[in-house]
This record gives sequence, structure tokens and C-alpha cells, in this order.
Amino acid sequence: MAEVEKFQFQAEINQLMSLIINTFYSNKEVFLRELISNASDALDKIRHESLSEPEVLESKKELDIKIIPDKENKTLTLIDSGVGMTKTDLIKNLGTIARSGTKNFMEKLQSGAADISMIGQFGVGFYSAYLVADHVVVHSKNNLDEQYVWESSAGGEFTVALDHSEPLGRGTKIVLHMKEDQLDFLDEQKIKNLVKKHSEFIQYPISLLVTKETEKEVDEEKEASSEESTDAKVEEIDEEKEKKKIKEVTKEWDVLNKTKPLWTKNPSEVTKDEYNSFYKSISNDWEEPLAVKHFSVEGKLEFKAILFVPKRAPFDMFESKKKHNNIKLYVKRVFIMDNCQEIIPEYLSFVRGIVDSEDLPLNISRETLQQNKILKVIRNNLVKKCLELFNEIAENKDDFKKFYEAFAKNLKLGVHEDAQNREKLAELLRYNTSKSGDDWTTLREYIARMKEGQKEIYYITGESRKTVESSPFMEAFKKRGLEVLYMVDPIDEYSVTQLKEFDGHKLVSITKEGLKLEETEDEKKKAEEDKAANENLIKQVKEVLGDKVEKVVLSNRIVTSPCVLVTSEFGWSANMERIMKAQALRDNSMSTYMTSKKTLELNPDHPIIIELRKKVNEKAKTFKDFVYLLYETALLTSGFSLEDPNSFATRIHRMIKLGLSIQDDSNVADETTTTSDDLPPMEETTGESQMEQVD
Ligand code: ADP
Repeated sequence: MAEVEKFQFQAEINQLMSLIINTFYSNKEVFLRELISNASDALDKIRHESLSEPEVLESKKELDIKIIPDKENKTLTLIDSGVGMTKTDLIKNLGTIARSGTKNFMEKLQSGAADISMIGQFGVGFYSAYLVADHVVVHSKNNLDEQYVWESSAGGEFTVALDHSEPLGRGTKIVLHMKEDQLDFLDEQKIKNLVKKHSEFIQYPISLLVTKETEKEVDEEKEASSEESTDAKVEEIDEEKEKKKIKEVTKEWDVLNKTKPLWTKNPSEVTKDEYNSFYKSISNDWEEPLAVKHFSVEGKLEFKAILFVPKRAPFDMFESKKKHNNIKLYVKRVFIMDNCQEIIPEYLSFVRGIVDSEDLPLNISRETLQQNKILKVIRNNLVKKCLELFNEIAENKDDFKKFYEAFAKNLKLGVHEDAQNREKLAELLRYNTSKSGDDWTTLREYIARMKEGQKEIYYITGESRKTVESSPFMEAFKKRGLEVLYMVDPIDEYSVTQLKEFDGHKLVSITKEGLKLEETEDEKKKAEEDKAANENLIKQVKEVLGDKVEKVVLSNRIVTSPCVLVTSEFGWSANMERIMKAQALRDNSMSTYMTSKKTLELNPDHPIIIELRKKVNEKAKTFKDFVYLLYETALLTSGFSLEDPNSFATRIHRMIKLGLSIQDDSNVADETTTTSDDLPPMEETTGESQMEQVD
């Protein structure tokens, strides 16, 4: 007697099962799609193995899926001749190893962001069996092990034992003991409809065991009737038939999916519905795709492909560990593999579809794929077609909005990575600008609107639209009526540094050095004068700030602010510094980020600067205090974070006290713990004498 071993479901899986069992959910039919999809995956695996090792199929030649409804025993059985599971596989795959999607799926279910039909997307489709069954038995035979049987009625545990029932040869047999109120899933017509609806494009025959009733006639009486006259014959035959009907009940296999692969058809013969259900069958998505492209490439190299753009981004698109893409590779109609990394670049990993090549060898392996020249050509073609497809989507504003909201990051990643297609990808980028209101602008539209004499494309990066809109860097641009692109997605920082220019126009950050605004003769003259007048101030300010700033210069990019901090043209912007800090914190690594080299730009027309200029030679300490405060506020308004918020706060508090005419040495209960000793430039503040000057 074989031993029955008991196992506990992993905690999250257990929760998921309870949720599946206890949630009121009417769309239970998805279970069939999920189990068929698992069977199809298992068949793909063994077929793939057989390409290099044909003998793996000896345990069972035919590759197919069988469905057996049994009303008497209230069971629905699915049998596949796929790869099967070893004992260890059964234990791991069906219950003890947590799946990354489990938790995510439950959270989405509970928040209402997902419903149970989406289960397949989260990699836990098997458990949907418990939507309709209260007891599930899985018999499985893998070539590397004996046949084992897994059983569970949920409730936290399952068992696994050596299986002495009918040998499978190879593959998996799932027996669902249906819940009393789910017996209509045993109905032949219902099963046929479901397979047609959800699993039509499965590449293996799906047969249903159907009951056929045939009628038989008895021979002798037929002979007797043949001697009658024609008129009488008609009547008699009817009578005889009545008498001689013998019902014979037979069981037969009905193949439910007979369609030839969709991609082999001419696109003009394929309906939208067919594309939609094909998409759903390969993607596990519950929604229809946003767009599709079906094409074939002929000539030296031949392949056919169907590419789909989903409506939404997958939940785990940018999970760093998971590198997947969603193109299935076929060779001459034979499935070769999912997740073929080499066939499409990472930034297009959201595109789903299939590619069927006539030229690749059937026994191609993952290792040889990398150097394969044919695959490189296919890849270039796919990228080209994807770009065409995106441009087609762009013809419809609403569709493009959906597309862009879901995949803008991918396009920007493409701009960053794919030098060959950078310009084409950049055509697809959209931004809000200082003049576009809530609409998006393309770079081309921006160029068309540029002011006379404007040669460069101006942009500002930052944390949010609100911060960039009100940034001091915008002042001169607003005044001069120059349009500025708002780049508020972290990835913009990366893509824009790679893009560098578009259609011959340089992209220029308005928060960095190297910004050259057109100046009139008068402005030039004034700049010369300002320079001379402020020479001493600039020198003194630099001296006070030391190596906190690289340089101090006069600015023509600010109008109402006294000063700003700009970064060097090829270094990090303030926004990039913010992103890198956040990254370092998130990764928990102390990975060093390089602080940007900053230049302090002073506005020579600002009253504060004018006043400060007068104080350069007066009282050294007072001057230092003001310079420090200006520097620190400029850090904030320019998008940096404060190096030492406490001393900044103390400085500000002193200013407040001054405004309220509180004597500094009278304060016993200073609310901050920072003492004046901590503050380098205010080391000897003594109160009113200096503060008077602020008024
Ligand atoms: P997914 O199929 O998305 O990985 P499931 O919960 O549906 O998640 O299945 C878990 C695992 O169990 C599968 O990854 C597969 O390894 C295994 N499995 C499920 N059904 C079968 C089957 N019919 N034949 C072989 N293995 C299977």
C-alpha cells in the first residue's frame, strides 16, 4: 500500500483558494480556459523537448487534450499528453511554492481592481478549478518519474501518493468533482461553446467525449416491404420504422477546435472577432487588444507574424528580476518557445503575438538563438512593424491616449536604448508644455510653433507639472514667450540625454548651464554694465559659499527671483539628483550618487541683489548670513534638497524673531535644538544690530 503524504498549502495560496471558494462570483466558466491553457503549455513543453530528443514522445505519441464529462459520477475530467509532473513538481507547483502573482492578485481582487477571470494573468490559473469543484484529483506522469496522484478538497491541505489507477503513459489527468450547483458544466453543448469561446486557437486537438444515440432498423421486415406497390410502401415504411427503431448509445470523440492557425490565413479573411479571441487565447488577457498587425515577410527570408498591443500594461512590466517578452516563436507551424528574448527588444516587451518562421531550424535552442542571423533580421522587422502599428494607433486620438498612458515609459526606454530607431520613437513622444494647457504636444508640433529666431527646443525636468510650472527657471521663458516642454516622468531624464536633438534642433535643459537666450543690442549692453558693477559681489559670494558652488555668475534666465542654482550641461540636473537619491534609498544600497556641480546665478536687477551689492564691503558676517540664506532658498526653488534642514530652519527662525522684534539673546526656550555653534556662517550672530538691516 503506497503511502499517502499530507502537505499544507503555502499560506498565500491557501488564502487565494478560500477567496476563490467563498467569493460570490458568477463568471465561473473561466476555469475551463485556465485548465486547457495549462494543458496546452504542458504539451508545448514536451513538443519542444522532442525537437532535440525525439524519444521523449515514446511514452505517448499523440499530443492532444481530452475532455470527459460524466454526469453519473458528477465529474469533469481533462487529460493532456503533455510533459506531466513528477512527484516533486506536483508538490511544488500545486501548492507549496508561492507564486509572485498570488499576493498581487488577491490585493487586486479585494480592491476591486481585478476580478477572478483575470486569474491566468497572475500565474495561478490552476486554482480556478475550485470555482466549480469541491474536490480535485490530479494524476500526473512525467517521463522522469512514476505516476503520482495529488488530491485536495481545499481546506488548507493536499495529499500526494503513488498512483495505481489507469496508467497515463505521459501527461496529466485532472478530475474535477463538481459542486452540486455547477453540474451544468457537464453539458456537452455548454462545453463545446466554452471551448469555442475561449480555447479555439489552442494548437492541439481538444476532443470531447460525446454520447451519440443512433437508430437501427431490423433487416427482415425491410425485405418484406420491398414487394409492395409504390403507394403502399410509403405508408408502410413509416409504420415499420416506428416499430423497428432501436436506440443505440455510443460514445465518440468530437474534435472541438478545427481551425487552422490564424496567422496562416490571409489578413483579409480574418475577422476582428477572430483576432480578438486569438489574442485572448495567447495572452490570458480578459480584454480585447488595442491594436493588431498581421503581416508576412517574403523573399530571402520568410515569416508570418501577428502582433498585438494590449490596452493596459501588465502588472509586472518593470519588475526588474522578471525579463520576459510575449512573443511566441513557431517554426513551420510548430511551437518552439515563449519568452524568446532575442526576438524583440526589451522596451517592446509589452507587445504580444506570434512569429512563425520558415527558415529557422526546428531544433533551435535558446543558446544558439543568440548568434542566429535569421533571428536578428526577424527582430529588426518586428521593431519596424511595431513602430508602424504605433503610428496607426496615433491616428486615433483616444486610442493613442490609452496607449501612451500605458506605454510611454516603454517608448522612452526605447529612445534611450535603441539608437537605430531613436528618431522614429521620438516622433511618438508627447509632452505637456508651458503653452499646451492640458493637451499633449509632439516635438514636431513644438518645432512648428517655435518663435522666430528660436533654434533650440527648451525643456525642464522636475518632480511634477506643478513644480516645473512655478519653477524660477521658467521666468525668462514666460517673459519672452518661449515654449518649454515639461518632462516630469523620471525616465525623461534618461531618454532626453540620449535623444540630444530632434529634427536638427538641439534639446536644451533650462535648468542647466549652456543656455543661450537671444539678446537684443540693449540687453547685451546692459549685461556688460551689470557684469562690471557686480564683479566684486560675485567674487565675495563665491568666497562665502566656497566649494558649495562651482561658480557664481549673473543670470538672464530669472526675472522675479533673486537667484537660482543651475547644473552643468552634461551633469545631473537637480531632478536627476533627486531621482538617484530615491533610487539609492529604495535599493537600500549606499550606492554613491554624484552630487551635481552647481553654479549660482544672480539676478542683477533684483532688489535683494542690488541691496546685497551695497553691503559687500560693510559687515562681513551679515553679508555671509544673507548669502547663505539665499543659497539655501535657491537650493529649494531650484529643485534640490537641503543639505542641512536644521540649520536652515534656525536661520529662518532668527529672521522671524527679528521680524517680531524678539531679542535673540533673550530666548531661553528656543524651539530648535540646533545651537548657533552648528551654523557655520552665523557663528556670531548677536541680534538686533544686524537684523535692522533686513528691514
Ligand atoms: P501557471 O500555469 O500560470 O504557471 P498555474 O497555477 O495554472 O500557473 O499552474 C502552476 C504550475 O503547475 C504550472 O506552471 C505548471 O508547472 C504546473 N501545471 C499545471 N497544470 C499542468 C498540466 N496540465 N501539466 C503539467 N504541468 C501543469
